[in-house]
Amino acid sequence: MAVALRKGQKEQSRDARYWAPVLETQSRSEWRRLKLALLKEHLHHAWEGSPYYRSTFEAAGIRPDQVTELDDLRHFPFIDKTVVRERQLAVPPFGDLVAVPEEEIVYISASSGSTGIPTASPFTARDFDDWIDYEARQFWSSGLRPTDRYAHSLNFSLFVGGPCVLGAQKLGALSIHAGTLPSERLLAILRQFQATAIWTTPSYAWYLGETALKEGIDPKRDLAVRRIFVAGEPGGSIPETRSRIEALWGAGVYDYYGLSDIFGSCAGMCEEKDGLHWAEDHIHVEVLNPDTGEPVAEGGRGELVLTTLKKAARPMIRFRTGDIVSITTEPCRCGRTSLRLRGIHGRLDDMLIIKGVNLFPSDIEAVARQDPALTGEYRLVVERINHLDRLTVEVESVRGFNGSLEELAHRLSRHVKATTGVHAEVRVLAPDTLPRATHKAKRVDDRRQGVWS
Ligand SMILES: [Zn+2]
Repeated sequence: MAVALRKGQKEQSRDARYWAPVLETQSRSEWRRLKLALLKEHLHHAWEGSPYYRSTFEAAGIRPDQVTELDDLRHFPFIDKTVVRERQLAVPPFGDLVAVPEEEIVYISASSGSTGIPTASPFTARDFDDWIDYEARQFWSSGLRPTDRYAHSLNFSLFVGGPCVLGAQKLGALSIHAGTLPSERLLAILRQFQATAIWTTPSYAWYLGETALKEGIDPKRDLAVRRIFVAGEPGGSIPETRSRIEALWGAGVYDYYGLSDIFGSCAGMCEEKDGLHWAEDHIHVEVLNPDTGEPVAEGGRGELVLTTLKKAARPMIRFRTGDIVSITTEPCRCGRTSLRLRGIHGRLDDMLIIKGVNLFPSDIEAVARQDPALTGEYRLVVERINHLDRLTVEVESVRGFNGSLEELAHRLSRHVKATTGVHAEVRVLAPDTLPRATHKAKRVDDRRQGVWS
């Protein structure tokens, strides 16, 4: 079906549903064939171009020409953020995981450095174009069209989320390079240009909506925003969180997942919002038990381990992300056949072990955001009393709640137990008691180590 496009869109006809129809709807066996061909070539490129990969492959006794199926990747060694940082310090400025001559590098993003020295992610011109084309494909799947006005309110300062705006621009949407701004200013821009789409974190989308209401602006009535892209926190993949933000804004919320070391987006939700479609022709996914390194059965929770398939500047072979996810390869109702992230449960670092049970703050979020008697804000306090862990969940009742607080607390406690298997004391606080998050929310007070995590 042909669609009317405007604003610099070269292609005059495109299937209305898909950016790359043949690729996006191919069978799972075609995906595997494509990925195997790409993987073999990419491993060879890493081996040829990067002294680090050559020596670690040799040490593991494996060569790229021995790969005959995707599962052979399991013979290759892992890398992680620590390796990337160490190699960058050993061979400045970009490290010896880089597999191209420096004159081919045209762009770098860098991590925030919140957990050490920032790591740089280099791109060749082709890597950059591949990425932006993928962003356009992803935005298209979320329903963004050339008729949209898209306000990109992410940080541009070395942050890999910044250039994602170029995907919307490539797609033909009017792209407003807003960056991070004070809320009042951002709201003024959304109003002035009647933006139809924005991108921010889930907690900030919430905060911005509440700020608008306090200023007498009803996001549903006074703003034109109909699509909110979110990333950076597990909340975006929790249906209860998305529906609360959707109700506040009268807009659809689409979760995206990206990584400073690879792409601004590696996955995002289509209009069905049933998991996040993965950039499978660019990045191969493994979901592994973080303790044993063995694969987890499809649908189970495990650590996301990524291998780039094309990114030439710095291949990432079996990069341990520290993110705990679950995946599915079932076809989506939208007709796309790519692997989907079903849940992004949190960071391995954020996982709480309470009385031997693994628990993520996102598990509690799903409970706190489901109950209409609650504002949706929450905080977890973990203490150790007489050598036993005790979890307290603090939530807030909505303004005007006139039911029994005790009954509400009991109901929530039962719900937490049923969902997570952990017993929690629930404390229902008055509205506006808990600190409001702006960007990344801190929701765990783990007093067992005496630190905030
Ligand atoms: Zn889909």
